[in-house]
Parts: sequence; structure tokens; C-alpha cells
Amino acid sequence: MTGTTVDVTLPLVEPDEHRLMRESVRRIAEGFGHRYFAAIAAADESPSELWQALGEHGFMGPAIATEYGGGGAGLMELAIVEEELSAAGLPLLKMLVSPGVVGAIIERHGSDEQKRRWLPGMAAGSERFSLAVTEPDAGSNTHRITTRARRRGEGYVLTGTKTYSSGLEDSDWVLVLANSGEPGADGRAALSLFVVEVDHPKLARYRIPTALRAPEQTFTVMFDEVEVGPDRLIGAEGEALRTVFDGLNPERVMSAALCCGVGRYALEKASAYANERAVWGQPIGAHQGVAHPLAEAKVNLEAARLMMMKAAALHDARGPAGEAANMAKLLGADAGVRALDQAIQAHGGNGLAEEYGLADLYFVVRLQRIAPVSREMILNFVAQHSLGLPRSY
Ligand SMILES: Cc1cc2nc3c(=O)[nH]c(=O)nc-3n(C[C@H](O)[C@H](O)[C@H](O)COP(=O)(O)OP(=O)(O)OC[C@H]3O[C@@H](n4cnc5c(N)ncnc54)[C@H](O)[C@@H]3O)c2cc1C
Repeated sequence: MTGTTVDVTLPLVEPDEHRLMRESVRRIAEGFGHRYFAAIAAADESPSELWQALGEHGFMGPAIATEYGGGGAGLMELAIVEEELSAAGLPLLKMLVSPGVVGAIIERHGSDEQKRRWLPGMAAGSERFSLAVTEPDAGSNTHRITTRARRRGEGYVLTGTKTYSSGLEDSDWVLVLANSGEPGADGRAALSLFVVEVDHPKLARYRIPTALRAPEQTFTVMFDEVEVGPDRLIGAEGEALRTVFDGLNPERVMSAALCCGVGRYALEKASAYANERAVWGQPIGAHQGVAHPLAEAKVNLEAARLMMMKAAALHDARGPAGEAANMAKLLGADAGVRALDQAIQAHGGNGLAEEYGLADLYFVVRLQRIAPVSREMILNFVAQHSLGLPRSY
């Protein structure tokens, strides 16, 4: 690899090992099915049996190195797991954050001791992470975060409030982005990343009711003088903007994988329904008003999948994956929302009935146009970095 060029091969026909992996994940996922997902979400329970099954088969940590109990593969394989789970109606948001963002960050920036401490549990599915980046008054502008990490002795004390952190009810740890010093000459905040135990006595969480129907709950999280040792700092102090980047691209790819998977799930159901349902003496799928939007959704979905694979391949090759990851996320979210919406439409009134297992997934996919990075911030990135247009904000 020289400069920013990197030698990456992206096979347009999927290799056998990926096809087989998809089949294995699919088998596990279908053993649970969308009904399991919906029931767990409705009961505010954790999908522990699913975590366990995925961990036992090595599907929680395909991107984690084998010496830490992972599969020694990459983001491509992790995205395959998420896409296949979602294609069976089990879009797990926790996969984006725990093995997706935090796994990648610890793998690339953790010390040997930190990798030994956290990666094996993550790979086994027995230890899970949440992520606390967003703040009420900073929003998309991460430079404005006010959660402080002050030095105390050899360690640090964290104080501040995060919002919309998801999945804490089912996590052991939370990776927290904090302001740990004065801004640099370029005005960029000096940020650092810390691992905090979710049940730390000085950490309080308050649930935010949302429209989301998913096993993950969403919280405002308060850190009131939370003391952590120096072993909890991930990467270099004040350098987290750079460190976090290695986790953001995986998160974007995983978000695209979730959306593409749900899109496939929705189109599969819609096609079956449109072939069976007949209200004018022929299947409704024979009407172009039903068939064309579904076909267009399929086209968009396949284009998004290609970009997602390109981004994963670039990330795995340690190449410049930012542009492709952002594009994949935008394409994936739009294609997923469109496919699901169109599948609901093709089902008529049944599209909203719980029995058909479509409408309850709407906000999980719709969320991906807002989080982890919004559509608008992606377009800002592409305008500025891909097209060389002036920064607009
Ligand atoms: C269910 C849920 C789960 C979440 N889980 C997590 C989590 O686990 N951890 C975590 O840290 N965060 C999480 N988030 C937060 C999420 O990442 C943020 O909501 C997202 O990054 C957008 O930030 P914001 O809500 O503050 O919007 P804002 O930054 O306030 O933006 C509001 C609107 O203005 C637009 N906008 C803002 N700035 C610009 C600009 N410069 N140019 C053009 N448009 C702009 C945005 O695109 C958006 O449409 C979650 C959110 C939700 C809803």
C-alpha cells in the first residue's frame, strides 16, 4: 500500500465461503425468526439466546483476530452476519455498536492487555458494549461535546450527560467519548475514549421512550464523577477523533448491512404476497403499479449492497474507506426504507398488521437515515470531500 492507494479486489460473484457463511447465519436466524424479535422487543427483553447462538457459532466476532477468540476475517464477514440476521427479520442494532464500532476500535487502538480483556468476551457474545457519543447540546457537532474527562491521580474522572445511547440495558460496558483537554490550534476538540462499566454506581441512565420497536432501549446517561483507571483509556489521550474514525466506517457499513437485510426481508415477503393475493381475478403483482415499485426497490437495494461491499473491502484492506462507507450508509438507508415502505404498500391494510411482520420494523430502518450519522451530514461529507465544494457549516 502506498499513500492512499490500496490494492483491493472485490469479487462481483460472491466467494463460496461467504455464501456458506450466509447460509449458516440464515439457518440460525430462521430458528428464531421475526416473531422472536418482535416478542422480545414488545416484552423489553434481551435476545440473550440469540447472542449465545451467534457466539457459539463464531458469528459475534468474525472480524476479531483469532488470538482473541474471533474469526480472524474482517468487516465484510461481520456485515454478512448482520445482513443475514436482518434478512430473516432480526435487525440487531447492538451488532453495529458492539462488534462493529467498539470491536474495530479496540482491535486497532487497544493495548495488548485491553484486547485480551475485552475482545474474547465480545467474540463469544458474552460481553457487550454500548456507545455514548451523542450529547443533548452538541448533536452532530461532536467538537462541542461537554462531557469532561479530568485527570485524577493516574486515572480520570468523567462528568457529563450523553443522550440517545442505546442498548445499555443489555451491555456490560459503554465506550464514552469525552473532552479531555483544551482544543488544538485548529480549533478541534481534544477528545478521548474511555471504557466504563454500565453498572458503575456513579452512572445513571434514564430511558427515552421512542417509536422504535427493537430489543435495544434508548437512554440519557449521566456520568457524575465516574472514576476510571488509566487502563480504561482506549488509544492516545486527546486523539479520539482519529481513533473513532476506525469505528465509524464499520458502523456505517453495518448500518447499510442492516438496511439491505431488512430490505431483502421486506421484498421477499412482498413478492410472495403479490403473487398470492388476487383481488381482480389475478395476482396483484400482475399490476405494474405494484410490480414496478418493488422492482425499483430491488434495483436500489442491489446497488446499495455493492457499495456496502466496496466499503467493507476498503476498510479490511486498511484503505481509504470513508467515502464508500458514507455512500453505502446513505444508499443502504434509503434503499431499506423504500423497500420496506413499498412492501407495506403491496400488503395493503395487512401491511400494518402485526401478523405480517413488516410495519414494526419501520423505525429500525428509518432510524438509519438519522443515526449513527444523518443523511445530511453524509451529503456534507460527499459535497466537501468527493466534490471539493466549500464546507457549508
Ligand atoms: C433510537 C436512537 C438510537 C441512538 N443510538 C445512539 C447510540 O447508541 N450512541 C450515540 O452516541 N448516539 C446514538 N443516537 C444518536 C444519533 O447518533 C443522533 O441522533 C444523530 O447523530 C443526529 O444527531 P442529533 O439527533 O443531535 O441531530 P442534530 O445534530 O440536532 O441535527 C438535526 C437535523 O439537522 C441536520 N443537520 C445538523 N447539522 C447539519 C449541517 N451542518 N448541515 C445539514 N444538516 C444538518 C441533521 O442532519 C438532522 O436532520 C441514537 C439516536 C436514536 C434516535
